[in-house]
Amino acid sequence: MILPVYGYGNVVLREVAKEISQDYPGLKDFIANMFETMYDAEGVGLAAPQVGKSIRLFMIDAEPMEEDHPELKGFKKVFINAHIVNEEGESWVYNEGCLSLPGIREDVSRKPIITVKYLDENFVPHEEVFDGIKARIFQHEYDHLDGVLIPDRISQIRRALIKKKLNNIICGVVKVSYKMKFAKKK
Ligand code: ZN
Repeated sequence: MILPVYGYGNVVLREVAKEISQDYPGLKDFIANMFETMYDAEGVGLAAPQVGKSIRLFMIDAEPMEEDHPELKGFKKVFINAHIVNEEGESWVYNEGCLSLPGIREDVSRKPIITVKYLDENFVPHEEVFDGIKARIFQHEYDHLDGVLIPDRISQIRRALIKKKLNNIICGVVKVSYKMKFAKKK
């Protein structure tokens, strides 16, 4: 089932999401629905708050970016209760987009190497090191669990420049090819 993607301005995107346990009701179906929603919207990552659930769960399937980034082949994972244990290296800039912010792409600076701990969809624990674009996608999705969005990661000047666009998203005045839930659509 395709779920509506919550747009910028919805309170759930600003909440600090809660960890879940294996008995979280309907988890398997929810994960399947999130994948379906992500593919329908042509995203490479989706976090649970983006579909209205404030829980520490996100998924990545970066295969569509494989042509430009061969290292992304097979990078498809579900991350539950993830933590970034360490971030290192010299920060680099990448132009990020977000399904909750249609029409907005902004350069965001982040560190290139991360060590992460997480549970997979079977609640098996993992510790891994990601770098480059893998780390980048992880960091973006991870931000959603703490209520952090692209506008929080850019300069005040850039934020002022996209203010109108952000307001339009809040009100649902935006062209988008997937189902969305806007904060203030009349
Ligand atoms: Zn996002």
